[in-house]
Amino acid sequence: MDEDARQLEKWLNKGLHGTMKYMENYFDLRVDPTKLVPDAKSVISLLYNYYNEETSLDKIEPRISKYAFGKDYHIVIKEKLFHLLEYIQNEIGEVQARVFVDSGPVLERSWAVKSGLGWIGKNGNLINKDSGSYYFLAEIILDLDLEYDGPLKDYCGTCTRCIDACPTDAILPEKVIDGSRCISYFTIELRDEIPDDMKGKFEGWMFGCDICQDVCPWNRFAENHKENQFLPSEQLLEMHKNYWEDITEEVFKKLFKDSPLKRTKYSGIQRNLEFIKTNSVTSKSDINS
Ligand code: SF4
Ligand code: SF4
Repeated sequence: MDEDARQLEKWLNKGLHGTMKYMENYFDLRVDPTKLVPDAKSVISLLYNYYNEETSLDKIEPRISKYAFGKDYHIVIKEKLFHLLEYIQNEIGEVQARVFVDSGPVLERSWAVKSGLGWIGKNGNLINKDSGSYYFLAEIILDLDLEYDGPLKDYCGTCTRCIDACPTDAILPEKVIDGSRCISYFTIELRDEIPDDMKGKFEGWMFGCDICQDVCPWNRFAENHKENQFLPSEQLLEMHKNYWEDITEEVFKKLFKDSPLKRTKYSGIQRNLEFIKTNSVTSKSDINS
């Protein structure tokens, strides 16, 4: 993980993580799995599909990123990881292990690359050659020797579709993402006001942003997930703009109890709605054409 550690350090030093200070924590654990599981010998790297073509929450305003339509993936996937670990322990005997899904100090994308699940695209996502990038990443770190897979080559080639489409110019050269300019960061992670220079750039995104994945040619191979827990509730499907604006905090908490949307809190959703409402929506492709 030496090279990955160097890249992470550089990214943090440039402040490209914005106000996400938690990313600075536990640097030593991120780059050394034996600090998470003593005597760790293997990392099992896993992908779980969340692509959903049937639902329109990412197509009509206010837009919600596909990953957030249903139940929080941390809950759904962690349960599956524990089942898998139990299976391994039943088959093999006692192993020391920990499971992770976007929750611990683990360089998830780097492990996925090392295990041949895909390559890091210019948009910073892990891309699988057979099925694109709409995946959650997860890991089991364990003290068990396994047969290891190796990395794949990068298939982005000369394509720049994601860079061209990003409305906030958050995709920098050499696969560096300026997290502090990304719509996902503004709409989910940022606790303060959204800066004025972002006005008119959100293209209707209220929670997250899928633009750089939607334009990626490798995602033409994406197939719908089969996870019922990732399907949106009837109530969420029925929400239209006015209802979003009229929603009370009490209703919000009830509706989104186990949803990724609760991360941004009621106040964050209100702020985002106000921001996209008061700023005209013009897609970058419209400007360019
Ligand atoms: S998620 Fe949206 S804002 Fe962020 S890099 Fe991709 S296109 Fe740009
Ligand atoms: S849109 Fe093109 S450059 Fe961007 S990640 Fe996909 S293949 Fe790579």
